[in-house]
Amino acid sequence: MLNEINEITGVKGREILDSRGNPTVEVVVYTKNGLGRASVPSGASTGRKEACERRDNDPARFGGKGVLNAVEKVNTEIRAALIGMNVLDQANIDRHLIELDGTDNKSRLGANAIVGTSMAACRAAANSLNKPLFRYIAEDILDGHSVGLPIPMMNVINGGKHAGNELSIQEFLILPSGFQRYTDNLRAGVETYHALKAVLKQRYGAIATNVGDEGGYAPPMKRTEEPLDAIITAIKEAGYTEDEIKLGIDAAASSFFDSATGKYRIDGMAKDGEEMIEFYQALVDSYPIVLIEDPFEEESFTLFSALTAKMPQVTIVGDDLFVTNVRRLQQGIDAKAANAVLLKLNQIGSVTETIETARLAKENGYKCVVSHRSGETEDTFIADFAVAINAELIKTGAPARSERTCKYNQLLRIEEELLGSHINATP
Ligand code: PEP
Ligand code: MG
Repeated sequence: MLNEINEITGVKGREILDSRGNPTVEVVVYTKNGLGRASVPSGASTGRKEACERRDNDPARFGGKGVLNAVEKVNTEIRAALIGMNVLDQANIDRHLIELDGTDNKSRLGANAIVGTSMAACRAAANSLNKPLFRYIAEDILDGHSVGLPIPMMNVINGGKHAGNELSIQEFLILPSGFQRYTDNLRAGVETYHALKAVLKQRYGAIATNVGDEGGYAPPMKRTEEPLDAIITAIKEAGYTEDEIKLGIDAAASSFFDSATGKYRIDGMAKDGEEMIEFYQALVDSYPIVLIEDPFEEESFTLFSALTAKMPQVTIVGDDLFVTNVRRLQQGIDAKAANAVLLKLNQIGSVTETIETARLAKENGYKCVVSHRSGETEDTFIADFAVAINAELIKTGAPARSERTCKYNQLLRIEEELLGSHINATP
């Protein structure tokens, strides 16, 4: 119901910095009751079909990466369109933004301008109702959806486009899932991360403990087995078992696919699709790998389907494959191409569309993995979002560097609130 209190009274965009030191968009949406602020992350291994992030391409500023044009769109067209709207009607706000843009991929206003506004409006609405963001999304947008804490999926060794080493696979992930509480799973992951530092130092020297874009170590390794072996040792050293901490990988295979030859360049070899399937099978046979993201380049629905059929016990996640797009996901569902979807708000460009994709995934038995980007900000929106949609998993980097830990920390606060222990505080 629109009353004055819920009316959007202002929208303000500004240029801030992301975790790689690149400019990004921050948006503030105002109501009479307060404000909501959100900032936009940015990928490095982006899918070709992602919504279009608008950059200035002016070499005189930030090497062309400035976002002043997107910010200007927020402060003019978007602001004019949103003022007077009901901040509690997220679907209507997002529909307006999409129509105002008028393109298929949000390239006119910029997906960064649109998703920043969409998230800021969502947070302004939660604030205006004096509710935590996760509750607002679950109760008011999703009509009383049951909430839950996701399993953290922590990227502890970085390769691919996120590191300066020779590992083709982009992310080596630990999935601490042996405990009932998120808090205990997080602790197990953190202790393993620290044990891994010692293992890497001992095997490869101190240089191996430098970190990549997502806070995971970026050791000078070449072969896929090396990080997996080091992680297995670290799990044991930290005092955990392979039942308590499972493994996953994000191959981000588009980044090592050679379209000229149709082969994947990995571990010093060039492999075709069938050989890649054998490669993944050998990894799953040798290590407690329960999840593989983007095992093939982003148009290979057929190979995805073959792998998903071959290893039904493994969570096969589509990231660049689906780009959080409901149509791409439907195509994947029809082809039985995976059994999980990565959800990145900026990949599709609005809160409502991300929820639609999550809904379609759930209706079809797909798991939801809410994800950060390799270029992040201190915004914790995705932590609340993951709880609100009851996502099985959240991927937000290593437990190091504040743009990653802020999400893990927000989940600690949410778990505390859900367990009721936050109200025991004494002044
Ligand atoms: C990913 O590929 O899952 C990822 C988080 O990387 P980026 O943000 O660079 O796309
Ligand atoms: Mg990925």
